[in-house]
Amino acid sequence: MQPKQRVVIVGAGISGLVACKHLIEKGFDPIVFEAYGTVGGVWSRTIESTKLQTPKQLYQFSDFPWPASVKETFPGHEQVMGYLDLYASRFGILPKIKFNCKVTRINYVVEPGNAEDMSDWQTWSSSSSDWPFSSGGKWNVVVQDTAAACAGVEVYQVDFVVLCIGKFSDLPRVPEFPLKEGPEAFEGKVLHSMDYAVMGRGLAAALTREKRVTVVGSQKSAIDIAVEVAKRNGSRYPCTLLFKTAHWTLPDYLVAFMFRNLSRFVEFMVHKPGEGFFLWLLTVLLSPLMAMFSKLVETYLRWIYPLKKYDMVPDHSLIEQFASCMTPTLPSNFYHAVEGGSLVLKKSPSFRFCHTGLILDGGAHSYHPTDAVIFATGYESDRKLKSIFSANYFQKCLAGSSYPLYRECIHPRIPQLAILGYADSPSVLYTTEMRSKWLAQFLAGQFELPTIREMEDEARKWERCMRRYARDKYERYRVSVMLQIYCNDQLCRDMRCNPRRKNSLLAELFAGYGPSDYENLIPES
Ligand SMILES: Cc1cc2nc3c(=O)[nH]c(=O)nc-3n(C[C@H](O)[C@H](O)[C@H](O)COP(=O)(O)OP(=O)(O)OC[C@H]3O[C@@H](n4cnc5c(N)ncnc54)[C@H](O)[C@@H]3O)c2cc1C
Repeated sequence: MQPKQRVVIVGAGISGLVACKHLIEKGFDPIVFEAYGTVGGVWSRTIESTKLQTPKQLYQFSDFPWPASVKETFPGHEQVMGYLDLYASRFGILPKIKFNCKVTRINYVVEPGNAEDMSDWQTWSSSSSDWPFSSGGKWNVVVQDTAAACAGVEVYQVDFVVLCIGKFSDLPRVPEFPLKEGPEAFEGKVLHSMDYAVMGRGLAAALTREKRVTVVGSQKSAIDIAVEVAKRNGSRYPCTLLFKTAHWTLPDYLVAFMFRNLSRFVEFMVHKPGEGFFLWLLTVLLSPLMAMFSKLVETYLRWIYPLKKYDMVPDHSLIEQFASCMTPTLPSNFYHAVEGGSLVLKKSPSFRFCHTGLILDGGAHSYHPTDAVIFATGYESDRKLKSIFSANYFQKCLAGSSYPLYRECIHPRIPQLAILGYADSPSVLYTTEMRSKWLAQFLAGQFELPTIREMEDEARKWERCMRRYARDKYERYRVSVMLQIYCNDQLCRDMRCNPRRKNSLLAELFAGYGPSDYENLIPES
């Protein structure tokens, strides 16, 4: 029998698509609201040269391999879009999507008789039941039609909301400057990488051609844009990559090697939340191997790249960076561009604008003339998430210091709602698909959530554990980066499925794990 509860999914990027597929499979009839006119989210609005950084075997739906025509290990963004279109058609997702419909607000309305203070709740339900739809309220989802000439607004009342709104779009993060030292003091063009990405090739080329462009940032978007502009302009108009901190960057073949070898054995080298004595001891004994591997790779990177020459040696370990999920791949022509003079690397802890350029480090003699500045400085993903909630109570739940999400998708104090795609991971698709399967089974009533206190304790345990590796780079959405398999074990156990997915002990210990290992998750009786 089809469940009568109404579920809304916000966003039709990868997270929204995979959530929708698994809910359909459990008999639900979800509505997906997508602010734009296409599926694919970030992959539909990115720069020409963007490719996957994750090898495609790990960035693949468990039951839907990449088409044989895609030969590359790291497909380009157009190939990713093609793959997502195929997935959406194959599993009947497209008819569920309402395009050009932006969710502007969601508001939890408690039904009469259930108005007790939510902060006193012991479980997701104000009554004794943990059933996800019986918390005594419903969500009002306010939807704006972005294509309609007169911007129509509709309100949908639903039983459950799955937020799949994406972390890398919509609300750009730009550094703050004192008055008259920011972009307003500058005569040139200033924009964010998000605006550069949606411009398309022609406009982007027109904006940057024969201009001295400065790209601010050190992560993937900054690197890709800088290389693209350097290639366009050559050494006559060199592009500058301006950054605060040097990061380890890897060649794609090394990334592919590391991903292939993410096995249980490797995870034994990492401490686990709430581990017992045996696991703790095993980790103590094996963790020197991890440190050795990290040093070895660092030495190799120093050997293949002129890091010292360009002051690009990071002052943190590769492991710390991996744990914080901030290890971009480096295009193979990056240091060629640097050596050839079309790309200039500049490290500066701070800078300000002047009329014709930038003053680096706040010093008078570090004048850096430039014609255009592109901020590739990331997104305000927390603010974006918070701002979709009408109620202060929920906004506070998501304020800076609060806990990570339970199983990386449930906020213990926000009932009848899940957040997918916010967990940073070496493969967002893999992580999100696992959680979509888990969520669909939960909504189908196949297991219950623990109490709010238990969920918070569990989430805190993960936080403490991962802070130890990522140190000051820890963010609460980077919980299971080092422990994908261990985390999947927990999800499998919740779903009453066997977490051991290989057919021999040797493979179980040493073979890499990936999405296809979880294709058929059948609950054991
Ligand atoms: C340049 C780049 C390269 C990347 N490379 C990799 C990689 O190699 N490996 C990897 O694992 N990850 C990578 N990522 C991360 C990437 O974001 C994820 O892999 C994944 O695509 C995220 O999907 P999503 O659905 O969660 O979010 P998004 O793709 O951001 O999709 C969110 C969707 O929600 C819609 N939306 C947002 N708000 C609303 C609203 N209020 N109402 C209605 N609709 C809304 C948006 O329009 C969008 O379509 C990369 C990201 C970028 C930007």
